[in-house]
Amino acid sequence: MNQLEKLAIHGGKPIRNSLLSYGSQWVTEEDIATVVETMQSPFLTQGPRIAEFESRVAEESGAQYAVAFCNGTAALHGAMFAAGIEKGDEVITSPLTFAATSNSVLYQGGTPVFSDINPQTYLLDLEAVHTSITPRTKAVVPVDFSGQPVNMQAFRALADKHGLVYIQDAAHSLGASYDGKVVGSVADMTMFSFHPVKPVTTAEGGIIVTNNEEYYEKLLRFRSHGITKDSRWMEGDSEGPWYYQMVELGYNYRMTDIQAALGVAQIGRLPELLSRRNEIAQQYDRAFAGLEHAGLLWRPTVDKQAMSGWHLYVLSLNLENLKAGRREVYEALQAENLGVNVHYIPVYLHPYYKKLGYTKGICPQAEKLYETFITIPLFPKMSDEDVKDVTAAVEKVLSFFARS
Ligand SMILES: *Cc1c(COP(=O)(O)O)cnc(C)c1O
Repeated sequence: MNQLEKLAIHGGKPIRNSLLSYGSQWVTEEDIATVVETMQSPFLTQGPRIAEFESRVAEESGAQYAVAFCNGTAALHGAMFAAGIEKGDEVITSPLTFAATSNSVLYQGGTPVFSDINPQTYLLDLEAVHTSITPRTKAVVPVDFSGQPVNMQAFRALADKHGLVYIQDAAHSLGASYDGKVVGSVADMTMFSFHPVKPVTTAEGGIIVTNNEEYYEKLLRFRSHGITKDSRWMEGDSEGPWYYQMVELGYNYRMTDIQAALGVAQIGRLPELLSRRNEIAQQYDRAFAGLEHAGLLWRPTVDKQAMSGWHLYVLSLNLENLKAGRREVYEALQAENLGVNVHYIPVYLHPYYKKLGYTKGICPQAEKLYETFITIPLFPKMSDEDVKDVTAAVEKVLSFFARS
């Protein structure tokens, strides 16, 4: 560590010449060829690529059924619909997530209830969930924050004991596992997102996987206006081969075949993408051991039973031993051309939620940790040189701000 190196934010030379973003897709020539082939086919949407993609995701996640959506948020909305969430129902979730998780509860008129996180894993804490359960609780939605899966068997047991629907927000954790069980195989419904920063991408896209046939049928209708051609769901008799009925209020939440084609190509590369993420995380773990030992930060903790998907690498600053706050450290890292980020502002602190009556102090651990978090770049296309730039910049900035 060279304490004397001048920070870029103070006019020194930045570690990098160009900005390294915190997350990014990796689209190959083969991926593009698959998409082009679909664009030249008869079906741009409502064609065979959708079912192909769905069966590939179901296969990778150990589930029987999958329903693709135009994005992960729409997929979560579908899960809340299928779970029967309505006005008066409470749904327990983590505050340390993207707003879409609890927004999907609001779409159905339900009430999100935020329970605190475990300060080691940053995941929804089972004990805290226990104390949040009331007679109105209808579902629990843990979030696999950063790609680390929750203890799925424990959430399964809790949901079964209290008669709750268990919906997993696995936007970060496609291909991850806990205690040998792959994410998607345990919850009642599991959502994956295919936004470009997520484990695999379809540009925009999302999916629900489930082992429950009733949820599956509901999700299919919900995705397409609430319309069915299946006589099992119709009232009265069919009037002919053209006939269909709209039997409930759905949306047009369909994914296109163009997107599904990209998904099919991408998911074939999932093992490669995950192993590269894991490799980078291990390089970070080694590189930051010294800074942790020096009391300047904490590295992320992964439960012994968990195989993380390493969507994010979140550093927690030990602000007591730094002369600067999180904001100054963040701005200094940005000036070194690291596209750092912060995941997440506790959801209920957003103005919209405040107006609904949520207040500061609901989840003290999440609020406290949020103040210390910085997400550093992590995506499979990063080169070893990029990884070195990240570790060098973090060392440079934190050494500068260390209290002596
Ligand atoms: C990305 C994300 C979503 C929403 O997915 P979209 O595909 O962007 O709609 C939901 N929850 C979490 C935790 C996410 O990271």
